[in-house]
Order: sequence, then C-alpha cells, then structure tokens
Amino acid sequence: MEARRRSLHSSKTFQHEPTAKPSPDAVSLPLYVTNAVFFTLFFTVVYYLLSRWREKIRTSTPLHLVTLSEMLAIVAFFASFIYLLGFFGVGFFHSFILKEDDDSNDVLLKHDSRKLTPCAQALDCTVFTSPSPPLVANEDDEDIIKSVVDGTTPSYALESKLGDCKRAASIRREALQRITGKSLTGLPLEGFDYGSILGQCCELPVGYVQIPVGIAGPLLLDGKEFSVPMATTEGCLVASTNRGCKAIHLSGGASSVLLKDGMTRAPVVRFGSAKRAAELKFFLENPANFKNLSALFNKSSRFGRLQSIKCAIAGKNLYLRVTCSTGDAMGMNMVSKGVQNVLEFLQNKFPDMDVIGISGNFCSDKKPAAVNWIEGRGKSVVCEATIKGDIVQKVLKTSVEALVELNMLKNLTGSAMAGALGGFNAHASNIVTAVYIATGQDPAQNVESSHCITMMESINGGQDLHVSVTMPSIEVGTVGGGTQLASQSACLNLLGVKGASKETPGANARLLATIVAGSVLAGELSLMSALAAGQLVKSHMKYNRSSKDVTKVSS
Ligand code: ADP
Repeated sequence: MEARRRSLHSSKTFQHEPTAKPSPDAVSLPLYVTNAVFFTLFFTVVYYLLSRWREKIRTSTPLHLVTLSEMLAIVAFFASFIYLLGFFGVGFFHSFILKEDDDSNDVLLKHDSRKLTPCAQALDCTVFTSPSPPLVANEDDEDIIKSVVDGTTPSYALESKLGDCKRAASIRREALQRITGKSLTGLPLEGFDYGSILGQCCELPVGYVQIPVGIAGPLLLDGKEFSVPMATTEGCLVASTNRGCKAIHLSGGASSVLLKDGMTRAPVVRFGSAKRAAELKFFLENPANFKNLSALFNKSSRFGRLQSIKCAIAGKNLYLRVTCSTGDAMGMNMVSKGVQNVLEFLQNKFPDMDVIGISGNFCSDKKPAAVNWIEGRGKSVVCEATIKGDIVQKVLKTSVEALVELNMLKNLTGSAMAGALGGFNAHASNIVTAVYIATGQDPAQNVESSHCITMMESINGGQDLHVSVTMPSIEVGTVGGGTQLASQSACLNLLGVKGASKETPGANARLLATIVAGSVLAGELSLMSALAAGQLVKSHMKYNRSSKDVTKVSS
C-alpha cells in the first residue's frame, strides 16, 4: 500500500530517482486486487455493524457494550476507510486542483511573470543531461506505468509528478502501447531533449517523428549565398529546388524586396446596434486616436509596435484587424497581448461593447482568406530574377517561350478557372512547408504563407526570362515557438538567421522571409520547367517511387 501511495501521490519520491530500488515493504499484489479487497472489506463491515446496531436497538442492549467481533469490525472499518480515502480522496483532490489550474490558466498567463519561460526551466529537467534510463528502468516505473494504464495517474501529469521529462515520455509511451496493444517500434524515443518542448511545443510526448532534411542551394539572393534546409519526404522536391537555385545562380542571382512586415489579430466585438459598432469603427480609424492606442498596445512588449487597426462591420458586430511589427518573432503571442490591452481600454470607453472573442477570423490565421491575400499578413515579399536564355536551355531543359506560355495557361488562367485564392503558382506550398518544418516555423501557417502569384515574361527580345514570385503573407520568426529546438535552430544557424538579431530587431525574421520567397522562386522555376519539358512524370518515377514492395512493409 505504501509503495502504491508513493507512486500515486508523492511527486517527491519520483523526482530524480530513475534508478531507485523498490522499497522492501512494497506490496507485490496488483492494484486492482488490493482495491477490490478493501472495497469488499469496507462494505462488509459497514453492513455487519449496521445490522448489529439495529439488533441492539431492537433488544434494548446498550450501544457501548461491544463484542470482540464488533471491535474487530470497527478496526476493519477504520482501516479500509483510511485506505480508500487515501487512495481515491487524494486523487480526487489532485484532479480538482488540476482542473482549477486549467480554468485559471488564462489568468495565470496574464499575471505570471514566468509565462514566457519554458516550463522545462521551472521544473529543472537537468536530468536529461545524464544517461537516459531504459524504457522500463525499474519497478517504480512499472508501478507508474500500471497506474497510468488503470487511469489512476493522469498521463498528462507525468512530467510534473516525475520532474523528469524523458522518463515521463518513456512511461507514457509504454502505457500507451499496453492500452492500445499497438507497438510504437520505429517511433524513436531516445536522442531527443524532451525538456526543450515542455510547456512550449508539444504536450503528452511519446517520441518524435524523423523527417529528413535536404539542402538546396546555394541560393544566390541579394548578393549573398544561402544553403536552404528543407525537411520533406517528397522525393524530387529538394533536387528540383536545387536545380532552380542553380539556374538562378548562373544567371546572376535573384533579388527581393520586403513590402510589408506586420502580424495581425482581429478580435470580434458586439454592440446593441450597428450604429454603436460603427461609432467604435470611426473611433479606431480616426488618426487622432492612434497615438493613444499605440501607446497602450506597445506597453505589452519591447518589440510589438502597433501599425494600424482596420475595421469591418457585419451588422452589430465589429471586427478589428490589428496589425503590428513583431521583431524577430512570428508574433502571434505578441500581437494577442497588445490586442488584449487595447480591448481593456475600449471596454472602459465603450461599456456596452461585448468582447466575443480575441480572434474573430478576420486576422486570418491558418485559413485561406482574401484578406491576407490582399492586405498581407506577416511579411509581404516580392522576389525576382532574370534567367538567361541559354541557362533555360541548358539547366532547365526548356525554352523561355514554353515557360511563359505554360505560366499563363497554368498559374494564371488555370488557377482563375479553379477559383483560386492566392494559389496562382505551381507548388509554392511545397517549398514553404519544407523550409518551415526545417526551421521550426508553425507548419499550419503554410496555408496563407503559400499564397503566391508566379509571373513569367520573356524579355530582351524574347531571349531571356523574367520570373517573379509575389508572396503577401509569409509568417516566419527566428525566436519563439519551435525555432529554439536543437535541430530547427541548427537549420536557422545554417542560414545565418538564428535567434534575435543583435543589430536590428526583426532583421533575422525578415531575411528568413526573403529566403523563403527566393527558395519558392527556385522551386517554381524548376517545376514549371519540368512540366514544360514533359519531364515531371519521368522524374517522379525515378525519384519518388520506392522500388520496395510496399505490401510487404505493412505491420
Ligand atoms: P510569438 O509572438 O511569435 O508567438 P513568442 O512570444 O513565443 O513568439 O516569442 C517572442 C519572445 O521573444 C518575446 O518574449 C520577446 O520579448 C522575445 N524576444 C527577444 N528578442 C526578440 C526579437 N529580436 N524580436 C522579437 N522578440 C524577441
């Protein structure tokens, strides 16, 4: 019982004891057997004592006169009661506290000065630097695995109970395998710093997925060379982008211009009438009020700087699209904090304003939306290159004329026929997503980040090709989120944009955005050339088809 209690209730016992021997007083009975025994005992003695009590009342026997069997029953009653209270009562109490923690999460986030510190630091997961214990290291682990399997220890609480993130992942993984009866062999556990993701990147980890990283380049962009890391499992993609980089390099390189840099968040607020909603719209869009609003907004961060608030009305509802610069961060957290300050101020000025949600989808995050395509979100970049006619022939194996015609019929007309929204390109999202995964960006933002129009024109009397990509919503950062993880930060380092820019805050993230656009330019050139030359199917058969018989690989 003691051992069980230790494993269930004493987080201290777990901490930093991966090799602890089982205590000699440990009960080797399975948990459910002892629970069943104490339950049975409890209800049996309660029944016995109640019937004795009734008997005594019936025969007018004084209640304080107890027989030996009654004394034993009273002892058994208290013993089983204490056991059941200890076992279930503390668990219930913990779950109650944890629920309260969840509910008050927002409040905590607001007031806790440690909110931007990864929990790993708070929990001190330094144990990661020591050799990792095997999957089931000792009987303590076995007890915990069993308690996760039978539901008495919540899987999500393992990290905080154990204070050892790797051990928590290992135990959760083993419990999951037992619960599902499915093997996780092939999903690696070892070789990853689970402390680095805690409280920031991923909850309930059981391992990590490996995605190969290939290098395309050098990409010659604005006079500098970049080796572009791409994490992908699509054969041909890196090779093709590499070929595009070669064509650009041999033609003297590409150049880029950053047109805009501002992350957006658009809360939705409601009034009693459209007239009142319009009053707030006019207030927010009045230049005379901008100074005051930006002072409020800017209080939330050293880097978040209010740029504009654009409003859209739907009846009594108002959508405030707030745009701000965010330094080297992608900026979603930053803009949200600033918006919160503005909303608090507006609430005082417009007491009848009802804040429905801090995000009202007019932002618009991770959804295809015309507002991003037209107004931009994150970094808006245009990138261009002139590819010499002979390079088009020798490297891209096609002609300027064929490329221009294909671009017009596929990327412009074909996409128009399909009713595309920002999809006037061949495969921008392929390159965007591969670079995003490699460099720790939010891969879900590939939706709007891949908005791109690819233009191709013949110039110099039809000899050379002018190619450009215009991408209004590249959402990238070099600090925060997944960028701080070891592998992703190594890829950022390769590009020379790791972390915060010391000289000019925001310069690293902006440079990364231009690299993304330059890589897309290379990818567009190469795929379009392959299509124009009719090579696509041939090259995919060669590089994107496994020769293995996949029917034999299934588990
Ligand atoms: P996001 O806003 O992209 O979700 P986070 O809020 O997680 O990113 O990370 C940004 C954090 O990094 C902020 O706490 C910010 O103060 C800090 N920071 C340090 N240097 C910079 C910089 N150059 N640009 C932006 N943020 C920076």
